[in-house]
Amino acid sequence: MSKKKILVTPKSFSKARDKAYELLKDIDAEIMENNTGRTYTEEEMENLCKDVDGVIVGIDPMNERVLRSARHLKAISKYGAGLDNIDLNTAQEMGIKVDRAVATNATSVAELAVGFMFTMSRYIVPSAICVKQGGWDRSIGRELTDKTVGIVGLGAIGREVARMTQGLGMKILAYDPYFNDKRTIEKYDISMVDLEELFKKSDFITLHSPLTDETENMINKETLSMMKHTAYLINTSRGGLINEEDLYNALVVGTIAGAAQDVFSKEPAGNHKLLSLDNFILTPHIGAFTKEATERMVVQSTKNLINMLE
Ligand code: NAD
Repeated sequence: MSKKKILVTPKSFSKARDKAYELLKDIDAEIMENNTGRTYTEEEMENLCKDVDGVIVGIDPMNERVLRSARHLKAISKYGAGLDNIDLNTAQEMGIKVDRAVATNATSVAELAVGFMFTMSRYIVPSAICVKQGGWDRSIGRELTDKTVGIVGLGAIGREVARMTQGLGMKILAYDPYFNDKRTIEKYDISMVDLEELFKKSDFITLHSPLTDETENMINKETLSMMKHTAYLINTSRGGLINEEDLYNALVVGTIAGAAQDVFSKEPAGNHKLLSLDNFILTPHIGAFTKEATERMVVQSTKNLINMLE
């Protein structure tokens, strides 16, 4: 039997590569890692996937064009949870198996989302910048205790946010049309509400649903206008959930107090006008970029790929 060819695209895979190679030693495989230090383009993916049997993929595009060119591809193992960069219909039609590394990065992403709550409500970033510039200005902050957090999407990450914010003494509202695990709802004292109630009552809204046709642009002029003027928006999910033009206008006129994102419609974000605003924070997709999550993602995505190829 000829050697299996495996493409590995995530940039952080190398951080725990030894663990993957240990698992892969039992299958006769040639492994191609991404040493470019960036996400591959569609054109690169089309060329790289041409004769591979399996892919461990990050956020690189696996759209119809890429999949159609991958004539030997049998399995796609997502290094993480969000499958929005993979054309699932075409994969199914072509008989390509797809799996994802469920819950491997949930704690890391949830900690970042909660970190954003502290960062914005205590003005940590502008305060630290002010001091480095020789100033000593203080902005009066607000406590998180007794405030209301609205969690959109109660999957692996949303549930971790619930666990952490309950510990902080926050009141928890959540919206997830596909979630009805009563034990979790009781354990974290979550009130399941509709989106309108969540937008109107929350002091912090944190997005943890996948990017789908249903969720694309769910944060827009209309939904932003339902929010409290003092409320903060947090997006560690996908940039496409937010209409960035509408968010910009809302932040400029003070419809809401601030927003923090770890993801953007186009990454890197370049010099988008949102970045000029003091009440907007963007981090470079670091949600899952911790030692612990990286190790779990490397191991789980490798195991998933081996299972699918067997
Ligand atoms: P998950 O699949 O465990 O949970 C997603 C939840 O969203 C599910 O409970 C689902 O029912 C719910 N959902 C689906 N449609 C919805 C809708 N219309 N409204 C509200 N909820 C809806 O996934 P997860 O591991 O919790 O990850 C969530 C998302 O976070 C991923 O899809 C991905 O886009 C993003 N993510 C980002 C990073 C990062 O580095 N910033 C890392 C991991 C995941």
